[in-house]
Amino acid sequence: MDEVFGEINKIPIVDIWRALGGDDPNRDGKVLCKFHAEATPSAQVGGNRNIYKCYACGKTLGAWNLVKELSGLDNKGIWDWFDKHFRIKRPPLEKKDKPKQKVMTLDEAKDDLFLWQAALESNDEAIALLKSYGIRLETAQAAGLGLFPHPSLGLGLVYPIPDGDNPVAFKFRTLGRGESGKRKNQVLAGEITALYGQGAIKFVEPVCLTAGEEKWLLLQQEGRCAVSWATGENSRNGLLLKAITEKNPPSITICYDADDAGRKGTAFVRSLAY
Ligand SMILES: [Zn+2]
Repeated sequence: MDEVFGEINKIPIVDIWRALGGDDPNRDGKVLCKFHAEATPSAQVGGNRNIYKCYACGKTLGAWNLVKELSGLDNKGIWDWFDKHFRIKRPPLEKKDKPKQKVMTLDEAKDDLFLWQAALESNDEAIALLKSYGIRLETAQAAGLGLFPHPSLGLGLVYPIPDGDNPVAFKFRTLGRGESGKRKNQVLAGEITALYGQGAIKFVEPVCLTAGEEKWLLLQQEGRCAVSWATGENSRNGLLLKAITEKNPPSITICYDADDAGRKGTAFVRSLAY
């Protein structure tokens, strides 16, 4: 990119001025300034620095900004202008890995949560889904669950991830299942830096370690002290688990699924040898 700007800055600025429809400079290389009203030319076009500089109003512009200010074009328009008049093309954009866009900010999610909570209470499909996991509506309400119409994934449940009493993130999971037979997940807002249910860990209680908000809710409903920790590969560094071991519970019961992911997760947690 710098190279191209170097090329643009090498064009005699008086040529750019003329291409923009400016009058020929007088013998001193000066023109009537376009940025203030005057009868005697006081703007130099060119000089040692190859810039536009008005000695009356002080306006000082390089090649790019001169085109920008006099044409009113946007960046793309300016590149097209330089291509048309001086055959200088915009360099190809460097590809960057875009960070995944969150659907909304944490504050927006907090503002809308009460609407989502009301929507859940009146949606039979959502209540039936929770019931199929064994979760009562009161349990879901106590955990602050809501129903959200996701713009691309469709209708689903929202799970506030609490850190103490304050939600630090919102997880979303579709009501319906995709082709893989799984419900689609997304972190709707915020960052998941805490374990789901971490705030509930108490000093002397045995802790149940599970995966997934529904199983966590179910254990809570049964009066257990539970924490949800995903079994997925990218969560296997184990750092978050310190939040449990720091509380020094009398035991940790691993309650993962009997599938492949659950077995791997169990083997990992056991390898930490609490
Ligand atoms: Zn001026």
